[in-house]
Amino acid sequence: MSQPQPRFIILGAGMSGILAAIKLRTAGHTAVSVYEKADRIGGTWRDNSYPGLSCDVPAHAYTYEFAPNPEWSGYYAPGPEVQAYFEKVVADHDLMPIINFNAEIIRCTWRDTPGNWQIETRDGRIAEAEFIIAATGVLHHPKTPDIAGLDDFAGVKFHSARWDHSVPLEGKKIGVIGNGSTGVQLVTALAKRGIEVVHFQRSPQWIMPVVQFAYTEAEKAVFRQSREAIDAIRYDPVYFGNIQRFTKGVVDTESPMMKEIEGYCLMNLEQNVRDPVLREKLRPTYRAACKRLIYSPDYYEAAQRPNLLTITCGIDTVLPGGIRDKDGGVHDLDLIALCTGFHSDRFVRPISVEGRRGATLEAAWKERCNGYYAISIPDFPNFFMLNGPTSPVGNFSLIDIAERQWSYIEQLVARVIDGNARGIAATTAALADYESRRITAAKATIFGSGCTSWYLDAHGVPITWPWDYDTFAEAMATPEFEAFEVI
Ligand SMILES: Cc1cc2nc3c(=O)[nH]c(=O)nc-3n(C[C@H](O)[C@H](O)[C@H](O)COP(=O)(O)OP(=O)(O)OC[C@H]3O[C@@H](n4cnc5c(N)ncnc54)[C@H](O)[C@@H]3O)c2cc1C
Repeated sequence: MSQPQPRFIILGAGMSGILAAIKLRTAGHTAVSVYEKADRIGGTWRDNSYPGLSCDVPAHAYTYEFAPNPEWSGYYAPGPEVQAYFEKVVADHDLMPIINFNAEIIRCTWRDTPGNWQIETRDGRIAEAEFIIAATGVLHHPKTPDIAGLDDFAGVKFHSARWDHSVPLEGKKIGVIGNGSTGVQLVTALAKRGIEVVHFQRSPQWIMPVVQFAYTEAEKAVFRQSREAIDAIRYDPVYFGNIQRFTKGVVDTESPMMKEIEGYCLMNLEQNVRDPVLREKLRPTYRAACKRLIYSPDYYEAAQRPNLLTITCGIDTVLPGGIRDKDGGVHDLDLIALCTGFHSDRFVRPISVEGRRGATLEAAWKERCNGYYAISIPDFPNFFMLNGPTSPVGNFSLIDIAERQWSYIEQLVARVIDGNARGIAATTAALADYESRRITAAKATIFGSGCTSWYLDAHGVPITWPWDYDTFAEAMATPEFEAFEVI
């Protein structure tokens, strides 16, 4: 190593970047810096604050293993509570002094001599490190739809990830475009407040029924005293059994596990939507879990309220005063909320990343974004990704995924430091072999079964981990070092 103390730069202070910073410092590394383009930590949970935002993973499972939280208010936590949790973890671990805020990284360049990365921020700050942890978030750059007339809308409009809380909602007529988890959570919350909502859905969603409940003060008192009581929920065999079944079902589309998921969703639709016309409107034409499955205790109840109108025929044009649908119906609106997702292929980018031998990230990811086991890219030594492209996706805790990825990354880091090497990166051959296996398997998953979704890359291939949860846990336990080049 060129430095007695290896230096680490972490890109992003969301859930993954915070995890990396804490893990590194706990392991005794002192030269750790985080660069965050915003003025607060939190990533997703900072940027998204729309009404109804909730984490659809049980709260005690969407929690760092090293930072249990006895105070979760209920089985599922609302978005602001998740953000507050991350803020508390950052304070408890005294991370603020090592986070550079308002520091957008625009360039990372590998230099063979002495063997380190140089980074540059938009305002011209330069820093160096031996290791870069890329934790910039897959769902970070909001996507605005290309709908005729949208720019001419005379009312208020914003993306769900840029919610303007200065705009009063009561008494307004709100158009919600988009029907992913965000669209469903938002219309449910607005409808329950009695607000008039028109929900424009391009395709209906399968809804997995779940039960939400609050923890009592007595239960929280037990959680404060007993880690075992918290772990009983975090590692609940029923919850873990569901994850196992879900991931096994996803990769074996004709399995009993997938039939079970489909059965639950179908039963939910059949039993809980009373009006046969609405029921048919809300019936998807693709298989359950092809798109990210929506978990909701109350969406169907909200959809049947008279103040929530569901439009499935498509949008023809946005008018200055509202939206005309493809059946000719005109809906007068005061506000349009765009729940139209994110550019999921923009992970790390637009940062310009230049690796060894003239490699650039733009060129490496021209076809599709990927990495060996979603972590390392050939010719980008010591550049490791957390929750990046081809990481597992699904209805389980991405904190758990990041923690497992970290245990893999820290073994790569140790190999460099202990071996007195400059760097480590997956070989081109290893990535090619891995990707060929991954792509073949991904096409056969439920995600590739014939719907459109943000899980698909530009070639229609799911950009996901295509094997089950146990295979992921096993893969992350120990790197196959023969797949790596040490320089
Ligand atoms: C609306 C919504 C709901 C979700 N619900 C769930 C859920 O229920 N369960 C679940 O497991 N997951 C959920 N997710 C996924 C969620 O994104 C992850 O769980 C997790 O928060 C990702 O953390 P991250 O740190 O990897 O990325 P992010 O949270 O996106 O954080 C990335 C950080 O990097 C910063 N950054 C980006 N580019 C730069 C740059 N160039 N320079 C400096 N800083 C940069 C960003 O500002 C951000 O702070 C949801 C996502 C969204 C959008």
